[in-house]
Formats: sequence, structure tokens, C-alpha cells
Amino acid sequence: MSTMRLPWNGSNIPHGTLDLLRKCNISCRGCYNQTPEWIKPLQQVKDDLDSMMSQRRLHTVSLTGGEATLHPQLPEIVQHVRSRGLMAAIVTNGVLLDSEMLSRLKTSGVNLIMVHIQLDQKRPDLPAEPKLEDVEELRRRMLQMIADHGIEPGISYIIYRNRLEELGRLLSMTLNSLPAGFVLLTMYNNFNKLPRLQGSLSEGFRSVASDEIVRDADEGEIDIEELLEFLEQQCFRPFSYVAANTDKRMKRWYAYLFASVTHRDGSHFRLALKSSLLERVAIRLMPLLRGRMAFLYKPNPWLFRFQILLNALTGGDFKGNLKLLQHSMKRGAVLSDKHFLLQRAPELTANGEVVFCKDCPDATIRSGKLLPACLADRIVDE
Ligand code: SF4
Repeated sequence: MSTMRLPWNGSNIPHGTLDLLRKCNISCRGCYNQTPEWIKPLQQVKDDLDSMMSQRRLHTVSLTGGEATLHPQLPEIVQHVRSRGLMAAIVTNGVLLDSEMLSRLKTSGVNLIMVHIQLDQKRPDLPAEPKLEDVEELRRRMLQMIADHGIEPGISYIIYRNRLEELGRLLSMTLNSLPAGFVLLTMYNNFNKLPRLQGSLSEGFRSVASDEIVRDADEGEIDIEELLEFLEQQCFRPFSYVAANTDKRMKRWYAYLFASVTHRDGSHFRLALKSSLLERVAIRLMPLLRGRMAFLYKPNPWLFRFQILLNALTGGDFKGNLKLLQHSMKRGAVLSDKHFLLQRAPELTANGEVVFCKDCPDATIRSGKLLPACLADRIVDE
């Protein structure tokens, strides 16, 4: 069966992003934050959440920045999100994460903390010229510290064309040993080159003046075909996707679901699952049964085994899934699910139109309006 298109349209999108501030304590090459510093008071965050909830049947909200941990009321914000019946995820560079902050966030009810640590960052907890091993060690320590506080750890990572070795190692380490169930991969895009834009999420965005469009080659930007080929070489095959705003056959968000088994002797067996009839039916029934779709989904190992079996029987990879189940039943074997999400950067066509992810599942709020988080700082009022 082919890759499943997620039936996320309009209010049926289970996720949104609340950016809490524009301020950061490190500097990253691919950052899309463009405006001068600002910070949202708690009441505004609450109002923005109300506004987002009136437009989407949310399941999960991601709290971002700038750097989310610089918001002095982050625990209260998490608590508020949870009190509205939603899951709360935080995206952070992790510089300020310590045991005290993690304990406070755990008490507030945070579900997932995604850390963004990679080469091409200037940060105080790494040497000025870090080696890849320094970065990996810091990332591993940070993920373990989050897991030790009973919080699900995740990874946020920006893909640069000239850093594919780092990406390959990250993918393989995540599948084999890192305690991270969720990985967000964002393709690098030089946002400084984007012109000012006007429009809306439903009608699309256009550049205000076509003479502002500058598209020089940038060594960090990778072509999607080249990236997909690289991922295929690592046995990545997409499970589902979100279409483009302009063409429902064009994939903009690629979701990958892996089952990974670790044996007692340290060896591994892993498989990228293929979507089957089971998932297509389940995702359509969910809003009817539970009022909304799920976004962060983490089954326990027995439920996951059952899903793998049903997936095999309803059009998934029959032989592969059975082999996987066989591995997972061996003595001492540990089965885990690993979720990867690849976000393709928005593209500007020659006539100034922006191609982005349909209805933007990562949309944020500005003056009550939903806008793609990656473009929000470039959008000007009509
Ligand atoms: S359009 Fe939305 S989902 Fe797509 S890359 Fe931009 S922020 Fe992410």
C-alpha cells in the first residue's frame, strides 16, 4: 500500500505551535526567528491558546521560541496547556535544562521535551570549535537527564546538505540506542532570503514585491530528491505524509514510524513500518470516537505488538512484520517505537507564490490568525 496521506484538514488538525518569545541564549545557523526580542505575558499565551482551540480540535501543543526555557512562566504555561486537556511538548536548545527545571516541568505535566543540539550552533556548553563527538555526547547526556526525570525525550534537528554524515549518525544512534522516541527533522532554508509575504493559511501566501526574491545557491540547502535518496539508503520509507497547500499529491511533511528491537547481547533489529488499511480506518474513526485525532502517540509495547500484527494482516509488510514480532518475543528483547518527522522547507515559486504544508500542522497564532510558524516573521499585514 502506498504512503498514507494524513486526512488533516482545517479544524481536523490535532497540533499547533505557541511561540512564547523571540529571544535566545545561543545562535543557530538555520534559525527562522527574524523579529527583535519580545515576550508574551502569560495572559496572552492563554488567549492565543483559546484562539487556536477555537480553530482546531487540538491534541498536542508545542511550546517554542526563540528559546522556550527563557520564558519565566514556562511551568505555568505547561500547566495551563495540560489543564485544557492537551498534551504539551517543549522545543529547547537545552542550555538551561537542569535537574531543578526538569523537576518543575515534570510537576507541571509536560509530556515531551525535544532538544536541539548540533554542529553549527554557538553555545556555552560546548567548546568554541566542537567536534561531532562533543555534540553527540552532550545530546546523549541531555536526553538521558530528561528520561531520568520521567519525561519523554525527543530531538529537534536541522538538516544541512554539508552535514549529512552528522545526520546519518543521528538517525542510526536514535534507532539503536538514544532514549528518544520522537525526532523532528527540518530541512534548512535560508530564511534571510525570503521576501515579505501577504496572505492567509487557507488562501496561501505571496511575496509582496517580486523584485525582493533572491535565490542564490546556499551550501546548506539540500534538494528533496537527494535527501530522500539518502534516507532510503538508511532504510527510511515514509509511513504517512501531509500534502502541499497547492497539490495534494506533493508530500511536504514525511512521517516515518520504526519498530526497533534491542536484544540482550546489544544487537538490533529494526523495521520501518508501512501504513496499512488498519491505520487508514483508525485515523478516520478517531475523530468520531474520541472527538479529535491523536498527534503524540506512544503505545505500550504489547499494544504496539498488536498493532504490528494487525498491520501485517491488513496490507503492511507481512514477512517483515512477522520477523520483527519474532525478534521482539526473544528473551530479554526490548521493543520500542521511534517516530521521525521530516519537514520540507517552504518554497517560493518564480511567480512569488509560497508552497508549504497544507494547513500547516505547526501553525502558530498572530492576532488570532493561524500562520505557518516557519513564515510568521516574514508575513506583513494586508
Ligand atoms: S508550513 Fe508549517 S509544517 Fe510546514 S515547514 Fe512550515 S511550519 Fe513546518
